[in-house]
Amino acid sequence: MCWRTGRLIVQVIDHLHDWHRARATLTGRVGVVLTMGALHAGHMSLVEAARRENDGVIATIFVNPAQFAANEDFTRYPRTLNQDLAMLEAAGVDLVFTPTHEMMYPAGYQTWIDVTEVTQGLEGERRPGHFRGVATVVTKLFNLTRPDRSYFGQKDAQQVAVIKGLVRDLNLPMTIRVCPTAREVDGLAMSSRNRYLTPAERQAAPIIHRALQAAAKRYEMGERQPEHLKEAALQIIAGETLASVDYVSLNDAHSLRPALEITDEPLLLSMTVRFGATHLLDNMLLPAHLNNLADLTRLLGGDGTFNGNSSA
Ligand code: AMP
Repeated sequence: MCWRTGRLIVQVIDHLHDWHRARATLTGRVGVVLTMGALHAGHMSLVEAARRENDGVIATIFVNPAQFAANEDFTRYPRTLNQDLAMLEAAGVDLVFTPTHEMMYPAGYQTWIDVTEVTQGLEGERRPGHFRGVATVVTKLFNLTRPDRSYFGQKDAQQVAVIKGLVRDLNLPMTIRVCPTAREVDGLAMSSRNRYLTPAERQAAPIIHRALQAAAKRYEMGERQPEHLKEAALQIIAGETLASVDYVSLNDAHSLRPALEITDEPLLLSMTVRFGATHLLDNMLLPAHLNNLADLTRLLGGDGTFNGNSSA
């Protein structure tokens, strides 16, 4: 389905050929924001950037089963379509594409996109098959929405690197833009999954941001030894009994290869921390002043411009 918003018109389109017709009505530069719905201010910061930088804006909402492992939360993932549509309409989005499962994965579906290197380690190691599902659905959604620019969140840093990789390798004529992580006032990175936290877990969860900040402070004071920087973060998390660390990792911001030696190159400090059954993901570029749209776009997972399309 597609929803045409704006001027208080919401139109449901059931067929892909109708979607293509709706897409053809957008002229000029088009920015796209891909989501799984349950929208929050983090998603909306991507929409705002897209609105600022383009003539037309498309948002997509699709909870992609291919990126969830059998033991993950696909069936209970929050679905809040009416509220999402109201938020997107208020933000001035032109078209909202909400494909059905059958439109994305019809019977006989058998084509997959596998980005081989940058998917190793970090979330790729913790969630086997996850990035194959992400890369496949993102490629399909790019084909369907044909963006000039597409907007992604820093919070999913490895996902950004995977998508930059496929855009480069498949010669897709678009620019990837990377928006800083939007946070609650206490520092917790906004996430659709935060609603799974119990009140006690929710109260404890900002420890992740404090751990990132502690490492950033050590970096600012001159520390460059990767193990010491990770240790600074781990020490903070160790003080919280409800938190258990899946991993804390320091990687080169460009290649996402593990940072093993002292370097002044920009680094990505990332971690996944579990509270009960909920895994929360967060990261920060070091030095900390790099955590802005321009530097994130330029650095994270390689250059953000491809195919000679270098305009912002
Ligand atoms: P999701 O709906 O979780 O698949 O996320 C859709 C997009 O929103 C992805 O590019 C995410 O990285 C981005 N996003 C999610 N949370 C945040 C956040 N707190 N700040 C900025 N972007 C975010």
